[in-house]
Amino acid sequence: MILLYLETDEAGIAETSLETVALARSLAEAGGGIAIRAVLFGGLPEGVAGQLAAHGVDEVFHVTGAGFEAFSGAAWASALQALRERTGSVVVAAGGSPRGNEVLAHLAARLDVPMAANVVSFAGLAPFVVTRQVVGGAALEEMRLDQRPALFTVAGHSWTARAAVTPGKAEWHEEAPEVAPGDLAARIVSVGQREAVRPGALKRARVVVGAGRGAGGPDGFDGVVELAELLGGALGVSRVVTSLGWRPHHEQVGQTGSRISPELYIPCGISGAIQHWAGCSSSKTILAINTDPEAPMVTKADYAVIGDMHEVVPAIVEELRRRSGA
Ligand SMILES: Cc1cc2nc3c(=O)[nH]c(=O)nc-3n(C[C@H](O)[C@H](O)[C@H](O)COP(=O)(O)OP(=O)(O)OC[C@H]3O[C@@H](n4cnc5c(N)ncnc54)[C@H](O)[C@@H]3O)c2cc1C
Repeated sequence: MILLYLETDEAGIAETSLETVALARSLAEAGGGIAIRAVLFGGLPEGVAGQLAAHGVDEVFHVTGAGFEAFSGAAWASALQALRERTGSVVVAAGGSPRGNEVLAHLAARLDVPMAANVVSFAGLAPFVVTRQVVGGAALEEMRLDQRPALFTVAGHSWTARAAVTPGKAEWHEEAPEVAPGDLAARIVSVGQREAVRPGALKRARVVVGAGRGAGGPDGFDGVVELAELLGGALGVSRVVTSLGWRPHHEQVGQTGSRISPELYIPCGISGAIQHWAGCSSSKTILAINTDPEAPMVTKADYAVIGDMHEVVPAIVEELRRRSGA
């Protein structure tokens, strides 16, 4: 049996979790029809039971009560451990999100078994061999999971979430387990809204103007923001930009940010490191603006302007304004 820790967002089951269900279905089929069980925590959006049934989940354990309304890696792992024992599951998996990796790492430590993070595929069941991303996705590694339960998380976007040919029953169970006080030592005690964020705006944008270290500092984004507004698009940035605190994390594109697929992506002062490329390679057309003609982003782009973004972007803005008569 396969037990999955799944996450939710405003729209239902999170995409990384549905991708994890897709891998689990493939694993279940390879194993001759193994049952898939899901564990969900706390408050849930409408319709998740139907969604899970459509994706082939057989049983759902919904864990609520004191200790489970807000995220706590250790407390949630303790509930997952109890359900794993009760169901006799031989595989426990989660999406390769920060929470998925944290909960499964806690579980691995409790069970004293290895955990494979960021798995992209599996090669066989006996022995159970998985391939996983390492070095931030720059390399792949094979790992053999001999101990049971086999624990792993699934790298984001490595599987496609899609409904099952044969839906599952998603038989629902409410659970309210006890939590040991020590398991709540690290937990979320309050959540604040940092700023107005339009969820999913970057992922849905038809035009994305990107900006990286080439922006030069927190004051170097006026031009790209203006260009994005003129084109009715959104701003996307590299991790250097968010790590330096120049722009908020929800604007980050890449392996650890949003994956975008706009009609047009205009990365300005972004080198095109593999982790950034992982998030923008589905763009239909890429127009790179960079001072370095050898930058990976420039060599992969459909079009490139070799020049300083602080000169090129204002020139584009001026021309757009002239043409629109603004
Ligand atoms: C586990 C892991 C996950 C990661 N996840 C992500 C991720 O999700 N997203 C992401 O972006 N990165 C991610 N990274 C970081 C990634 O490896 C790179 O470090 C990062 O993308 C580089 O950002 P950058 O292109 O802005 O900066 P740089 O690599 O420093 O490139 C700056 C570019 O700007 C150009 N430039 C400089 N000045 C100008 C100017 N005035 N005008 C025009 N061009 C100029 C330069 O020629 C250069 O090409 C991750 C790394 C790891 C290890």
